[in-house]
Amino acid sequence: MILKNITLKETFLNIDVHQYVMSTEPNWKGIPRNEITWHPIVDKDKCVGCGMCITSCRKGVYTFDLKNNKAIVAHPEKCMVGCTSCETWCIFDAISFPDKQDIKNLIKEKKVLETAKKQLKEKINKCQSCGANCCGSR
Ligand code: SF4
Ligand code: SF4
Repeated sequence: MILKNITLKETFLNIDVHQYVMSTEPNWKGIPRNEITWHPIVDKDKCVGCGMCITSCRKGVYTFDLKNNKAIVAHPEKCMVGCTSCETWCIFDAISFPDKQDIKNLIKEKKVLETAKKQLKEKINKCQSCGANCCGSR
């Protein structure tokens, strides 16, 4: 992994990176998350510290470097695979991602669609048993 909590705590004073920690998904569709290279990259020269990415991402990926007024990718493994929302929110174009095609290739190579289909069936069954209509199955 690129950054470790201990390094961040030592490097960025006055910031408790753990306050942003949320539950970590150990895998994505059956693939260990640490085998998937997908997370934002912040261009420190372009980042103005506006806070859009930090306050908008619901996954706890970012923290803030108070000293240098920059966004920090503190928990890259928490980034939702394939999501690029924060890139859109950053009007300073300071955020970039790996090539989306890599994820599309991974989906094909690792037969992710089979996992998705199984998960979908489970979700529909659950919705039907509890009477909810969140899958639109009624
Ligand atoms: S949205 Fe962009 S400019 Fe604002 S803090 Fe995040 S990376 Fe920096
Ligand atoms: S891509 Fe999505 S999940 Fe990942 S850091 Fe940006 S907003 Fe958060």
